[in-house]
Amino acid sequence: MGTHPYRVVITDCDHGSIGEEKEEFGQIGAELILAQVQEEKDVIRICKDADGILNQYALLTRKVLEYLPKCKVISRYGVGVDSVDLKAATDLGIIVANVPDYCMDEVAGQTIAMILILTRKTAFFDRKVKSGEWDFHLGIPIYRIKGKTLGLIGCGKIGLEVARRISGFGVKVMTYDPYLEKAPDGIELKDFDTVLKESDFISIHCPLNDSTRHLIGEKEFKKMAKKPLLINTSRGPIVDEEALIQALGEGLLSGAGLDVLEKEPPDPQNPLLMMENVVLSPHVGFYSEESISELKRRTARNVVDVLMEKWPGSVVNRDVRGKTRASISG
Ligand code: NAD
Repeated sequence: MGTHPYRVVITDCDHGSIGEEKEEFGQIGAELILAQVQEEKDVIRICKDADGILNQYALLTRKVLEYLPKCKVISRYGVGVDSVDLKAATDLGIIVANVPDYCMDEVAGQTIAMILILTRKTAFFDRKVKSGEWDFHLGIPIYRIKGKTLGLIGCGKIGLEVARRISGFGVKVMTYDPYLEKAPDGIELKDFDTVLKESDFISIHCPLNDSTRHLIGEKEFKKMAKKPLLINTSRGPIVDEEALIQALGEGLLSGAGLDVLEKEPPDPQNPLLMMENVVLSPHVGFYSEESISELKRRTARNVVDVLMEKWPGSVVNRDVRGKTRASISG
């Protein structure tokens, strides 16, 4: 440990460099170790003297946490904290932090891109022109974007960013979000069926959980009166993919833009791969050079904050208040 006042371990991460993390910990003179381990015994061995941990996939179970007497904080790269036993962390006084909003601009941009690519038929024409067919009639009908209605299923951080951006195109925005008490500025709050019935574009921005799994299925597609475009940049299983394929086949939808699928990557024989009016991307919505750099910096800063006896920007296990190992007040 030498002269370093703190020891911080990155259990594992799948980004290539840790320059941002080194900068952040350099400012407090902490020793930073990139372990790249996922096996329980290796995690325990390398983390046993750690004051703080950065984590991506390695499982931090109750057993592991019980072997880490000095650990005051675990900061997860990203939003989900499934890798950490939150109850155990709270019992042991370990703060668990995350970075819930590092890629809002990217996912909102991906959503807008999908809407524009599908309405202007950009991907379709690109394929045609490159195969020697220079004829805009091939893509007809094409409809004007201005004046259309976008229905957001879920209007949290990303939904709001999508709404802000699309309003510049003269698109009206409505949302179904059962947890919103009042409509955000410029957005109409409606019931689920109204959004399904009145939207020209439907875009999904709710989380995946037991109540949203297959939220959009056969019954819902039948209610979509305007043959909308469906955009999903949230999580694949929110849409019943078999029902989606059937709805596209029956013409209940004009098209779909999907950054996420029920099975990623898809099977090569997945019919969605063959459909001209479906645009796909490989769950890239979160990614930009800037978003990853921000993610790394903010994941590290959560740990720095706790070591400097401050609450980090985003605490997941709020019940830990009052019993933290770190001496933080409030
Ligand atoms: P958020 O928590 O800020 O917003 C989610 C909204 O969904 C909330 O307003 C909530 O009230 C609403 N909601 C919850 N249950 C609902 C339901 N049954 N029906 C309708 N609305 C419901 O989350 P966010 O930051 O806006 O992210 C949204 C989702 O985007 C995430 O859950 C994640 O799955 C996805 N995401 C995808 C990528 C990607 O790379 N494609 C990257 C980041 C996030």
